[in-house]
Amino acid sequence: MPEGDSVFRVAARLHEALAGRVLTTADLRVPAHATAGLAGRQVLEVIPRGKHLLTRLEGGLTLHTHLRMDGRWEVYRPGERWAGGPAWQIRAVLATEAGTAVGYRLPVVELLRTADEERAVGHLGPDLLGPGWDPAEAVRRLLAHPGRPVAEALLDQRNLAGIGNVYANELCFLAGVTPWTAVGELPRADRLVERARQLLDANRLREGHITTGDTRRGYRHWVYGRAGRPCPRCGTLVLTATQGTAPQERVAFWCPYCQRGPAPEAVRPGTGARRPTR
Ligand SMILES: [Zn+2]
Repeated sequence: MPEGDSVFRVAARLHEALAGRVLTTADLRVPAHATAGLAGRQVLEVIPRGKHLLTRLEGGLTLHTHLRMDGRWEVYRPGERWAGGPAWQIRAVLATEAGTAVGYRLPVVELLRTADEERAVGHLGPDLLGPGWDPAEAVRRLLAHPGRPVAEALLDQRNLAGIGNVYANELCFLAGVTPWTAVGELPRADRLVERARQLLDANRLREGHITTGDTRRGYRHWVYGRAGRPCPRCGTLVLTATQGTAPQERVAFWCPYCQRGPAPEAVRPGTGARRPTR
């Protein structure tokens, strides 16, 4: 699942490559739009909206794409070899004289009128990296269902848009609660939302979703991806378990010492770690 800061960078790269240029080739390899005649139109801009990408074209059209689990947009110079995957995985090709953007494995490729963009992204909550970021509204939406587990509520793009599984886990650590804690039990939901904004903003121009401030590999996260390794703060082994039910399940990580709240009994690699009492 991509994080909003990654999508922000993809949009910036596409904007840089395409905006202000005329499409020489536009090939959407999805049945609904296979014959859409987009060549000859200028690309106006490419913007992120949460984890969605909106490519606005001359003539009031928008190409809406989403990366979901493993979609990618790559940009190639003229003559450069396309290397993002086999040809059958290509869903979209947008070429100009300066370069070509190739969309691989995109689960969403939808052409709509720019005036109808809200149909695609109108359900999203306040956009963590958007121009109209509204923290109070994000808090209000998060707390509208106070019984929901924090991680699940943070991942629900209708509450606030841009958080993926890395940040959901790391934010729970930073708030000192397990991912299963009810969102209504958070001592300060406003601080959590502010923290989310700070993290995505700090990482919007760099790789790695760094939450510790330490850019070295292996030190970038507090608990995410660290199952069975010591918590950087207290040394207790980090635990992991599956959270949610299919198809929404995902992996949760937490430090049983630094994070209070409910957690499942069945845990993986960290199993057997003694939970310190306090
Ligand atoms: Zn800890």
